Amino acid sequence: MIRTYDVVIVGGGAAGLSAALVLARARRRVAVVDAGAPRNAPAEHMHGFLSRDGMPPADLLATGVAEVTRYGGEVIDDVVIDAGGSADDYILRLERGESLRARRVLIATGLRDELPALPGVRERWGRDVLHCPYCHGYEVRDQPIGVLGGREPGAIARAVHLALLLPQWSEDVLFFPHTMALSDVERAHLDARGVRVLEGKVARFVVDDALRGVELSDGRTVPRAAMFVAPAFRADDALLVALGCAFDDGGWVITDPAGRTSVPGVWAAGNVADPAAQVISAAGAGSTAAIAINADLVMADATALVR
Ligand SMILES: Cc1cc2nc3c(=O)[nH]c(=O)nc-3n(C[C@H](O)[C@H](O)[C@H](O)COP(=O)(O)OP(=O)(O)OC[C@H]3O[C@@H](n4cnc5c(N)ncnc54)[C@H](O)[C@@H]3O)c2cc1C
Repeated sequence: MIRTYDVVIVGGGAAGLSAALVLARARRRVAVVDAGAPRNAPAEHMHGFLSRDGMPPADLLATGVAEVTRYGGEVIDDVVIDAGGSADDYILRLERGESLRARRVLIATGLRDELPALPGVRERWGRDVLHCPYCHGYEVRDQPIGVLGGREPGAIARAVHLALLLPQWSEDVLFFPHTMALSDVERAHLDARGVRVLEGKVARFVVDDALRGVELSDGRTVPRAAMFVAPAFRADDALLVALGCAFDDGGWVITDPAGRTSVPGVWAAGNVADPAAQVISAAGAGSTAAIAINADLVMADATALVR
């Protein structure tokens, strides 16, 4: 027999588990289906989450799972491969063969970071190849830092933005334009912030047991203790597409401030809807969505009873 829930949450990161905790405590029948690959898994420590600063990311999620299950929420280790239906009768198909029925669905599947295709980047991603100064800038403070420019339009603007931020953490910040052409205004801004620019295509990041520096294609090697890169952010939004949700021109799902999408009964929270969400704000978005979903169910039931 198909298991039936008030709410099925796809994704058990900070957003999904926070939503599940609120719904389980509201005595809703709730399941979280999680594939077990949160975005910050490569990082040893998570920073900037009040009261949890420095906690390993896996510990936060393990604590969250324990809290959700303590209130009767279910956490299912699987992948949702398809979703369809309509409010009060959504069906989610899982990779291992089972299907779940749900009155409401919350998609909290996060995003994927598409990294620059240079040797050494992926090996050190989340350790000394970084993207977020608020997450890990403090850990590399006062060290020689580099920032990699890139070709992709969105990534170029973010790489320059990163380089402008970083002098707060180190006086030694080098910007490698790599394949991009800096505008005069960008150069002036970088100069004003004390960021030096080193022209030349980057061949690879030099890595042994840690990042050692950057090798340019003309053979020069520049020692750096940390490199910041600007990945392209790709929402893990296949289920939102399958469910027929509307997207904006930038390709991000459209939601109201509580995470409600254009499709009745379907919510989205965390990085799948907001690439800028940190762990604490993804958790907040999950909590906000859960409260809105519960209210939506209450009103649907009250309206049906009045009729
Ligand atoms: C290297 C790195 C370090 C970071 N460090 C920090 C930091 O120190 N502090 C901070 O605040 N932020 C940090 N971040 C950002 C942080 O990772 C995100 O803010 C946070 O993970 C967003 O939470 P989320 O719940 O939206 O998504 P995620 O945490 O990515 O969780 C999404 C979950 O959904 C699952 N999933 C996806 N598709 C499916 C499916 N079809 N079926 C079932 N499950 C599915 C995934 O496997 C995953 O477990 C870092 C990011 C990176 C890349």
